[in-house]
Amino acid sequence: EIKKLTFTQTIDLRNKYVGKSCELFYKKSPLKIVRGQAQYLYDQDGREYLDCINNVAHVGHCHPDVVKAGVEQMQQLNTNSRFLHDNLVICAEKIVSKMPESLSVCFFVNSGSEANDLAIRLARQHTGNTDIITLDHAYHGHLTSLIDISPYKLNLPGAPKKPDHVHVAPVPDVYRGKIRAEDHPEEDMGKLYALEVKKLIDENVIEQRGQKVCAYIAESLQSCGGQIILPHNYLRNVYKYVREAGGVCIADEVQVGFGRSGTHYWAFQLDGSDVLPDIVTVGKPMGNGHPVAAVITTEAVARSFEATGIQYFNTYGGNPVSCAIAISVMNVVDNENMMENAKDVGVELIKDRKTKTPATVETREVVNRMKDEEGILVSSDGPDVNVIKLKPPMVFSKANADRFLRALKKMVSDIRAQRYQLL
Ligand code: PMP
Repeated sequence: EIKKLTFTQTIDLRNKYVGKSCELFYKKSPLKIVRGQAQYLYDQDGREYLDCINNVAHVGHCHPDVVKAGVEQMQQLNTNSRFLHDNLVICAEKIVSKMPESLSVCFFVNSGSEANDLAIRLARQHTGNTDIITLDHAYHGHLTSLIDISPYKLNLPGAPKKPDHVHVAPVPDVYRGKIRAEDHPEEDMGKLYALEVKKLIDENVIEQRGQKVCAYIAESLQSCGGQIILPHNYLRNVYKYVREAGGVCIADEVQVGFGRSGTHYWAFQLDGSDVLPDIVTVGKPMGNGHPVAAVITTEAVARSFEATGIQYFNTYGGNPVSCAIAISVMNVVDNENMMENAKDVGVELIKDRKTKTPATVETREVVNRMKDEEGILVSSDGPDVNVIKLKPPMVFSKANADRFLRALKKMVSDIRAQRYQLL
């Protein structure tokens, strides 16, 4: 039995033994959550919170089918993937069945970071090039190779310097990005932003460095960095330019995959079935909280990797328990029509519609008051930390959404009234 600690004991032990850079939600009054069920979390005093934070608990906290799949497999066997096992191949078959035909080879890993790191290795091997194009404010993981391509971290003071082989393209944010829809009412915003990538390739990669492109990596809906829905025709054109320059296209679906966008299983499919990445990375929702992730690629890319003669071995990647859980998650998404319920949106708070000044302080206040006064957990994100980010489990209902909206409306008008009086 693991002993039970009081709230204070937990904090004290954490302060004493855990690295301070591992930050908690609600730093000033952190939550100790002891139980989760579907879209609700419960603290040590039994207070219930509506969870709009846990995209990882994709089909709901402790979904009984997923728990059962994990427990039963754990009672039977867990070992590495150098033995034949049905769960691994069935899981691979199931993921591939959700992908376009060209994406048919899986590698199993344990986290989104591992998936993206492997994606870059595959891209390097396949293209023989080194230069990588990433989006501003993007986050792709915590490994050294990924901090290098994550302006979300690189833009912070104290971060390592961006390496020369990494090139940062503007986020195709038509609302407050480099090119705004309000200034180009007649134009194809996706094409304009894609041309920015082409310019970067021509000027920074080819002219300045005399290199070709290794990979373009982007989330298919930029979740870290502000919940940006990519404009129509953006990925289609970017993928074309990247391939023309010798690179491959990596779709990071770690946060937005497995049906979270609602209409499509993968967010790269949102703009049409002709938008085809060469490598897709998946994670988070895949295990409903259990660490399991994967890279899915084409036969051609997989063959180039194989041709090195260096075997790929990952101790825990694709173990029978992880695969049992991932199969179960995919079955629940299918059987319980979870995609219809999907909600994965961001609400940006601004002070003034004209200037679009981000309401950063107010956003923090909303996040904290939502927890304290309403028992609703939301997070904030974006370069100006003024986007209220909603990424609830997919069991989130219409009634839950209404409750959130009512609370948000009340809070925003409260805050507005308060500030107005202060002025
Ligand atoms: N890619 C994206 C888009 C992510 O949001 C994250 C995690 N926030 C990662 C990769 C890294 O995943 P992990 O934390 O599982 O290593």
